Amino acid sequence: MHYIFITGGVSSSLGKGLATAALGSLLQLNGFKVRLRKLDPYLNVDPGTMSPYQHGEVFVTEDGAETDLDLGHYERFTDVNCKKTDSISAGGIYSKVLKKERKGEYLGSTIQVIPHVTDEIKKFIVSDLNSEDFVLCEIGGTVGDIESLPFLEAIRQLKNDNDNYSCAILHVTHVPWLQTAGELKTKPTQHSVKQLLSVGIQPDLLLCRTDKIIDDDLKNKISLFCNVNKKRVITAVDANNIYEVPSLYYKEGLDKEILNFFNIKKISKKSNLNIWNKVVKRFNNPNSEVTIAIVGKYTNLKDSYKSLVEALHHGGIANKTKVNIKWIQAEKIESKNGINLFNNVDGILVPGGFGLRGIEGKIRSSKYSREKKIPFLGICLGMQMSIVDIGRNVLKLKDCHSSEFKKNLKNPIIGLMTEWIKNNQIEKRNINSDKGATMRLGKYKCIVKKKSLAHKIYSNESISERHRHRYEVNTKYLKKIESNNFVISGMSPDRKLPEIIESTSHPWFLGVQFHPELKSRPLKPHPIFISFVKACINKKNNEKN
Ligand code: GLN
Repeated sequence: MHYIFITGGVSSSLGKGLATAALGSLLQLNGFKVRLRKLDPYLNVDPGTMSPYQHGEVFVTEDGAETDLDLGHYERFTDVNCKKTDSISAGGIYSKVLKKERKGEYLGSTIQVIPHVTDEIKKFIVSDLNSEDFVLCEIGGTVGDIESLPFLEAIRQLKNDNDNYSCAILHVTHVPWLQTAGELKTKPTQHSVKQLLSVGIQPDLLLCRTDKIIDDDLKNKISLFCNVNKKRVITAVDANNIYEVPSLYYKEGLDKEILNFFNIKKISKKSNLNIWNKVVKRFNNPNSEVTIAIVGKYTNLKDSYKSLVEALHHGGIANKTKVNIKWIQAEKIESKNGINLFNNVDGILVPGGFGLRGIEGKIRSSKYSREKKIPFLGICLGMQMSIVDIGRNVLKLKDCHSSEFKKNLKNPIIGLMTEWIKNNQIEKRNINSDKGATMRLGKYKCIVKKKSLAHKIYSNESISERHRHRYEVNTKYLKKIESNNFVISGMSPDRKLPEIIESTSHPWFLGVQFHPELKSRPLKPHPIFISFVKACINKKNNEKN
């Protein structure tokens, strides 16, 4: 088992997650089994309770962990499903340590960062593995942050413990172009490596993020000052398309140098990259284009919808079509002429979310798509708001909403689910339950109705999708909904939880309680996104004719 620790310096947002994911793919293409993990230095127990504005999207794994969005990159590049045991924060580590302390498991010791916290981190890094060749472990944050110290200390110790583990440190830095000097500058990288050295870690490879090619002279300089072999100073130039990154790293010899480092004799082949080259080629040579509106709450920070945007692009790649995204703040739709924002869009997507802001705009978006026959995809909260729209505007129910947004409703068409079955056990919640990790989370089975649009999309009666929500469609209203040109085309196997709704009098109107975007991959686009983009293309073509 080989461990590669990916650290970052100089600044945040250098794309360490993407680098880890792309390296994971390259190693896989060389025939190795990989596992990708993320250690985050913040004190939240997990990102589940963090605002998307602070942390971007919360990525949910099959087994129901609420994790960092980088795990989404890992899955999209390697198609290896991450698990609960692939993501932990300092908060998660500390809560484990404190729980043990309360139980008296430390037998009276004074609990300290070294060794108790660092031991817990090391235990996490080497736990739950299954004959992987490489474990890639990304350390969140930037060297020099106070919070990352225990993590860096833990990997220093692991590396030192050479008898048991073989480890490489890959440090991602920035080599900025200074416009006034007309030069690339290596000093920030030198400083960042010094920071790492100050905690006892010498990087083995440097991945230098830059927007220009780093020439030989500069590589010599970085090599000399940072004490890293020149061949292991790798340029990571900005890519036009993230799926180009594995090929760019291959060209720079990243996988070759990693294998050399571990003394693995294997020649990394160019033809390995064909699968990624095909994706990039399709992406860069579309036959047509469509514009899809995303009506959301967190549209100012695109990272909040990372997987969604990727899934739409995957749907585009499958249809050889460029998908342009029009970001719309949901509350803008609420204004008098808000609906005009939908001029010239070929499809409308209302994504998942929480909270009241913009909620009426989302309901209005559903109504508009229904009436104007524009392809509509509602995901989680988006689906729930399409049901509220149907309740209010088709079934003509008074005082109809989700009980998430109004108490004591006459018609709570969406309500808090207090009980459901997971792995043959009953899960219970109530309004006073903790907010963290108490939603319906992770994969659940769904039974798809034959001959429905959903059935056409999946070509399967039994599907499994990932969830992250507290509220559910109130089954009391299903009969009424179904007698008005709508079909509940997906239900939980016990028939208690509606999962998919569609319209029978509309070319493409689909609401799903789950998050299909979490399972879409560039090499395996999700069928819902393939079908949705196709419907948008059809709408556009019909208008032309
Ligand atoms: N806020 C809604 C719920 O908790 C929807 C959540 C979501 O869209 N992920 O049920």
